[in-house]
Amino acid sequence: MEKIEKFEDMKIGEKTLSYLKKSGFVEPTDVQKEAIIPAIEGRDMIVQARTGSGKTLSFLIPVFEGIEGKNGVEAIILVPVRELAQQVEEEARKIGKFHGIDTVAVYGGASIENQIKKLKSASVVVGTPGRVIDLMKRGALNMDNLKFFVLDEADRMLDMGFYEDMEWIISRTPENKQVMLYSATMPDEIIKLAKKHMKDPLKLKLSEDSISATGVEQYHIRVGSMNKMAKLSALLDNEKGKYLIFTRTKIAARKVAELLRKHGYRVFAIHGDMSQSARTKTMNDFKSGKIDILVATDVASRGIDVQGITHVINYDIPLYPKDYVHRIGRTGRLDKKGKAITFVTKDEMGALRRIEEYIGRKIPEMRLKVRGRIRERMDYREHADVFGMVTFVFTADEGMSTLDVVKELEKQGIREEDIGKIEIDGKKGEFEVHYSSAHRATKSGLKEIRLKAKESKP
Ligand code: ADP
Ligand code: MG
Repeated sequence: MEKIEKFEDMKIGEKTLSYLKKSGFVEPTDVQKEAIIPAIEGRDMIVQARTGSGKTLSFLIPVFEGIEGKNGVEAIILVPVRELAQQVEEEARKIGKFHGIDTVAVYGGASIENQIKKLKSASVVVGTPGRVIDLMKRGALNMDNLKFFVLDEADRMLDMGFYEDMEWIISRTPENKQVMLYSATMPDEIIKLAKKHMKDPLKLKLSEDSISATGVEQYHIRVGSMNKMAKLSALLDNEKGKYLIFTRTKIAARKVAELLRKHGYRVFAIHGDMSQSARTKTMNDFKSGKIDILVATDVASRGIDVQGITHVINYDIPLYPKDYVHRIGRTGRLDKKGKAITFVTKDEMGALRRIEEYIGRKIPEMRLKVRGRIRERMDYREHADVFGMVTFVFTADEGMSTLDVVKELEKQGIREEDIGKIEIDGKKGEFEVHYSSAHRATKSGLKEIRLKAKESKP
């Protein structure tokens, strides 16, 4: 097979080509080079390619080449979250303009009446499963003339528990349609779904190793949870850029944004609890560059495409390696350079190792020599053992007993249950306290108190 280098060589019609030209898309991306032609020829498709590789056009182009625009809804594109529905529909609408074909995005959290009205003329529907089912049940979304059934971000749909919804929808569409599935990873359930609903699908795997082949530089920073803000400010103050910061929970996203704002940064958070309009506004401000820092959770950020993100910060390390891949896919899109920096606490080294295994390469440590406007504090938790105990050494007075040490510590308000082993050997004293009381221990009358250096383990 000869290698296709241009959209012009791909059996794409004039109208779509005009759109591509106007949008400045000259050369197809790798996945587009392989996936567009077979899809135009009518093949069912299973396409795995990393985030940011250009999958959207790989299905939108064949869809617009294959529909007529006068038979009701001819294509449905299912996506996991509303932002993605909006984003994909926006792209579809642009192509549709050149064809005189209407499109609509349908998702929850927005007026259903408006969507029903638009559905009357739309040929291409982009939607989240819940709202699509709702509209079908109301008889507002008729699938009788459907030609294309597309699943975008299929892996995420499964993660979010949409398997049954997808089944429900697809089983109510005509037998004779083209089914196309796009995903950044390929879990078994997808293969199961595909086997059930596809005819001899073409499987394309633009391997995930392109993750490591991109311009994304990846690092980790060892930091205790107490000092993550300080490290973050050190980065923000010393490396200018457009930052996307990930936290594990909605609460954390809100907190991080709030704290940063308190220190004078222009930043917003985006998470599932926000109203649709607030999310859209925040996204638009981030896209337009009005704000340069966005804090997000995995779910809220999913599939969002923002140009020019230079730094992805994993404020909280993702629990699942594949979320790591999704997160860092937000930077270094196509050929641009980007950095992905993951904060790792002592207890999270295992999670880091799992990610390294998954992506098949080491994520080197970055040692920040610079500081930011938020100060670092001693984070005793990082020095604690598995029981939460921190060991200090001090210089003992002549004839000092362990009981004297307890008394000194209790004078600082440290409770007995927070005090561990105490040893005195000549002038050398040593005691353990719970990390929550460690800062008090340093204020006690014991002489030359300092943290005991960690013994290097074999
Ligand atoms: P994916 O769905 O694989 O994560 P997208 O379809 O969202 O990726 O595309 C990522 C970015 O690349 C978008 O900003 C898109 O406009 C851009 N893009 C897609 N195809 C091309 C192309 N052929 N040339 C240049 N930019 C492209
Ligand atoms: Mg996509």
